[in-house]
Amino acid sequence: MEINSQYHRMRDWRRALHQVPEFGFDTKKTAAFVIEKLRSFGLDNITGDVGGNGVVATLKRGTSRKAIAIRADMDALMIEEKTNLEYRSTIPGIMHACGHDGHTATLLGIAETLTKNDYFDGVIHFIFQPAEEWGKGAQAMIDDGLMQKFPFEEIWGFHNMPGMPIGNFETRPGPIMSAEDNFEIQLIGIGGHASKPQVGKETMLPACSLIMALQTIVSRRIDPTDIAVVSVTELITDGSRNILPGLSRILGDARSFRNEVSLAIENEMTVITAGIASTHGLDYSINYTREFIPLINNDKLAEHAIKVGQKVFGPERAKLANQPVTGSEDFARFLDHVPGCYVFFGNGENSAPLHNSSYDFNDDALEHGVNYFVNLVQSRFKP
Ligand SMILES: [Zn+2]
Ligand SMILES: [Zn+2]
Repeated sequence: MEINSQYHRMRDWRRALHQVPEFGFDTKKTAAFVIEKLRSFGLDNITGDVGGNGVVATLKRGTSRKAIAIRADMDALMIEEKTNLEYRSTIPGIMHACGHDGHTATLLGIAETLTKNDYFDGVIHFIFQPAEEWGKGAQAMIDDGLMQKFPFEEIWGFHNMPGMPIGNFETRPGPIMSAEDNFEIQLIGIGGHASKPQVGKETMLPACSLIMALQTIVSRRIDPTDIAVVSVTELITDGSRNILPGLSRILGDARSFRNEVSLAIENEMTVITAGIASTHGLDYSINYTREFIPLINNDKLAEHAIKVGQKVFGPERAKLANQPVTGSEDFARFLDHVPGCYVFFGNGENSAPLHNSSYDFNDDALEHGVNYFVNLVQSRFKP
């Protein structure tokens, strides 16, 4: 392969980004890097500061008004990198442990190829988004007028998948990634001496009953054909070894693939908590928040994505994913407005898991992402 090939350029971009990871909405340097590269391709329709440090670059060709969008995420994670790579993170406590450095480099490669070739007739918006890991960046771009300023009819997104071989591809129609809800329940009573439990209204024993009872939501209240998870992950009290607690806090995380299921989990949680609090004469509060909504692929676009995948990767390597993933993605927010499809590219069988301190995006995946999306764009603009 020639030394100045696009593969080498993308690899260099990816490694440069890996060295200076940025967290959440604070992706200023990454956005500046993206804008500089886009300009170097000859793209001049570039808008920065969309929803914070988001970037939108628009490429118009021919006369068709049909517009599509392709989105990559730019943010890193608060994890101390534990690799010995020569291009490892130079920022203490922050690393690209989800491969968003690779996603950004892939979308730059797609933009470069499409800018330098005459492959389609229409409009493409390349969207570079901050704060995916928080689940806030997509909505921030939408709230900043993304859909009005850069209107598009459909949107495409992607993520690398550790464990899946390089050059492999998966997606599925319908639910592909779950909603994530967080909750905190407080049981409030009167603490007191461990030797006189009859005097106060302690909260520890009721909290334990409540934790057990919360497990009946999935097993007794949700339709068995729906996927749902209710995980209590923390029990924190103000008690001590000889002090019965007057306050118990129960924290956790719930996953589901339909809004109705998420609402049912919250509703059942309220009924069960009210019942147990009343039994023990306690006050209670529930804070239930929806961090990520479920990511539901459009059926037709997903079928189309698989067809393109089979053409690019071959039928053996482009597969229909059997099951959705119980991870979450804020790409789902765009799908509140337009149909879209989210796909996975293999990051290699030996890849460390996502959000792991030894993880690294596999540079061999870059060209597969570009190859796939260039073919996809051509197919979407066919007359
Ligand atoms: Zn992540
Ligand atoms: Zn990610």
